[in-house]
Amino acid sequence: MVIMMEKEATESQIEHVIEFLDEKGLSVHRSTGVEHIVLGVIGDVSRIDIRDLKVLPGVSDAYRISVPYKLASREFKHSNTVIRIGDVEIGGNEVIVIAGPCSVEYKEQTMTIAEEVAKSGAKILRGGAFKPRTSPYAFQGLGEEGLKILREAADKYNLLVITEVMDKDQIELVSEYTDILQVGARNMQNFSFIRALGKAKKPVFLKRGISATIEEWLMSAEYVLSGGNKDVILCERGIRTFETYTRNTLDLTAIPVIHKLSHLPVFADPSHGTGLRNKVIPMARAAVAAGADGIMIEVHHDPVHALSDGAQSLYPNQFEELMDQIRVIAKAIGRKIADRKN
Ligand code: PEP
Ligand code: MN
Repeated sequence: MVIMMEKEATESQIEHVIEFLDEKGLSVHRSTGVEHIVLGVIGDVSRIDIRDLKVLPGVSDAYRISVPYKLASREFKHSNTVIRIGDVEIGGNEVIVIAGPCSVEYKEQTMTIAEEVAKSGAKILRGGAFKPRTSPYAFQGLGEEGLKILREAADKYNLLVITEVMDKDQIELVSEYTDILQVGARNMQNFSFIRALGKAKKPVFLKRGISATIEEWLMSAEYVLSGGNKDVILCERGIRTFETYTRNTLDLTAIPVIHKLSHLPVFADPSHGTGLRNKVIPMARAAVAAGADGIMIEVHHDPVHALSDGAQSLYPNQFEELMDQIRVIAKAIGRKIADRKN
């Protein structure tokens, strides 16, 4: 349920409404819109008579949200969520590019790639230090050493850091080094974990589960939001379908669908979405054209020897060319992408 307060509502009127709901065992999320204070009511609202709320002093309107994800819905919050980290705005007009290796492998590798992607206009450096590998025998990541390398490389080239956190127990450690906590596709419905991320102090980048519907994905975002963390970014990274030519099927329809259903920013990851280097570029272009708020691209200076996902990693010169192309696409739809740094 959503309660819109009048523009002139006083603090004591707002508190009175919150107390009224509290007595009924309901919790309230307060958000400050451009014009109004909006109260989102969470819990079993079926027994409330909505008229009792509409007549409270300072209340302008009250209505029920028809979808199961409440805080994530556009019905709850009309304006887009914009997340500001340093001088980067996620969910605003600029299309933000995240780039970097699949895994942090060694210092020179990450430094080299960071320099290249920063030059081309990427704003955020990616790289896994804790890797969710299908095989227990595959490279599992460098752990904290990898986090240190990633932070150092990002700081040197004025980039933000995003990296995956795989476990509830890792949230604190990973938060010390990263600007954004990435939740992998395989963890999207690890409910105790995503609930814990609601208390994390960093924005959460929530990848879509391999077989998750859009509604399930938004329900996972709801876990984080309802825990008090308002900064959630969604990322479409391909879903499993009957098609086996590509690693996954990148569901670009999800981008306009999410924009309709939710106020949260949505990214696309054509690297994991296709699994094939020569398919990454066209799908990245398509993602920007579809209105993605950002893209995540795996880049490696020596993909043949990469310890993970070499086949889907772009060479730095391909990444540079892609950036030049998507700048034009972004401009055509009234958005922008950071310029190349020479
Ligand atoms: C990744 O981005 O490093 C990754 C493992 O992606 P996903 O969780 O989408 O498979
Ligand atoms: Mn990868």
